[in-house]
Amino acid sequence: MQTLNDINFNNKKALIRVDFNVPLNKELKVTDATRIEAAKATIIKVLEDGGSAILMSHLGRPKGVEDQFSLRHIVEKITEIIGVQVKFVEDCIGEKAEKAAAELQPGEVLLLENLRFYSEEKNGDKNFAKQLSKLGDVYVNDAFGTAHRAHASTAVIAAFFQKDKCFGYLLAKEIESINKVLNNSQKPVTAILGGAKVSSKIGVIENILDKVDHIIIGGGMTFTFVKALGGNIGNSLVEDDKLELALAIIGKAKEKNVKIHLPVDAIIADDFKNDANKKEVDTDAIPDGWMGLDTGSKTAEKFAKVIAESKTILWNGPLGVFEMESFSKGTIALGNAIAAATAKGAFSLVGGGDSVAAVKQFGFADKVSYVSTGGGAMLEMLEGKTLPGIEAILK
Ligand code: AMP
Repeated sequence: MQTLNDINFNNKKALIRVDFNVPLNKELKVTDATRIEAAKATIIKVLEDGGSAILMSHLGRPKGVEDQFSLRHIVEKITEIIGVQVKFVEDCIGEKAEKAAAELQPGEVLLLENLRFYSEEKNGDKNFAKQLSKLGDVYVNDAFGTAHRAHASTAVIAAFFQKDKCFGYLLAKEIESINKVLNNSQKPVTAILGGAKVSSKIGVIENILDKVDHIIIGGGMTFTFVKALGGNIGNSLVEDDKLELALAIIGKAKEKNVKIHLPVDAIIADDFKNDANKKEVDTDAIPDGWMGLDTGSKTAEKFAKVIAESKTILWNGPLGVFEMESFSKGTIALGNAIAAATAKGAFSLVGGGDSVAAVKQFGFADKVSYVSTGGGAMLEMLEGKTLPGIEAILK
C-alpha cells in the first residue's frame, strides 16, 4: 500500500476527505479548531510538492441545505491555520464545483460545500461518489472521525481511484497508534474503561480480553459490576439487564489471565449536583439515597500502582462525573498516573469523546503519547471491526 509520502503531488489535485466537523458558536465562529490543526500536515505536504488541495467534509447534521451548516463559516479559520487563502465553492458536485476544481492552481486550496447537504453522502450513493471523484487526481482520506461510516466520500469514492489513493498523515497515525496498543504492544498492557455504561463498552471489553493484561473499570459502569458481585450500590447508575454479563466478563477475564481492577471506594453524593452532600465510602457499601459519582482516594492509589507498572496504556472514558468539579478528582488522579508512566517511557493512547475532553480540560494532552481524534471510530477499531473508510483504501 502506498503512503502519502510515496506520492509526489506536483501538478496534481489532491481530493482530501477531512473531518472539519468543528463546533461553532452562535456567531458561527469556530470554537475548537483541533480537527483543522490535525489535518494541516497532510494539506501542507500536498502544497509543498507543488500540488493543489481540494478539501471535502461534513459539518453537523443538516436536513438538506441549511446556512448554519455551511462550510463557508470555517474558511477564515482554515486560512489562518494553514497560512494559505482558502477558496470556497458553494456546492460539492456539479458544474460549479467542477469549474472551481479545474481552475485551481498548484499551491492553492479549495474547500467544497458541506457534503451532507446531499442525502446521497450518508446513503453511500455510488453516483454521488463518482461526481466527487471527478474533482481530483488523487484521493486522500484523512478523516478518522468518520472512518467507521460507509459514506460516499469516506469509503465508496475510493473505488473510483484505482491506485491513486492513500491515507493522510492523521488517519495513518491513528491506525498506527491503535495497532501499537492492540497488536504490537509492549507488556504489560493496561486498558482503562470508564464512562457511563457497560452496554456501550461491552464490544471493546470482549475484544481486548485477548490483548491486555489488566483492565481497570471506572465511571458509572463500576456499579453494574459491584452489584453483580453482591455489593450495595444505593442509587448509583446501574444496568440491571447487564448483571449476568458483568459476571461473565469477570469469569472470562479469569480464564484468560486478565486482571480486572474495580474501584474499592467511591465519592458518593445525595444528589446529582456539584454542591450535593458528599462522603467517601467503600464501593460495595453505598447507602440507599446516595450514588457513586467518582472514585475515591484508595482507588486512586490502587489504580496508580497498576499504571506505573504498565508499558502500554489505553484510556477510554472518565472515572467519574468529571464535568462537575466535586467529582473530577478520580479522573485527574488517573490522568496524573498515566502522564507519569508516559514520562517513564510507556506508550499511552487516549480516545473517546469524553476522555479527550477530560484530558484537554485538565492539561494532560501533551503528557500522553497520543490523543485520538475519533470517538466512535476508535471504539469500533477497539472492538476489532474493520472500518469501511480504512478498508476502502487498502483494497
Ligand atoms: P461515555 O460517553 O460512555 O464515555 O460516558 C461519559 C459520561 O459518563 C460522562 O459524561 C460522565 O459524567 C459520565 N459518568 C462517569 N462516571 C459516572 C457515574 N459514576 N455516574 C454517572 N455518570 C457517570
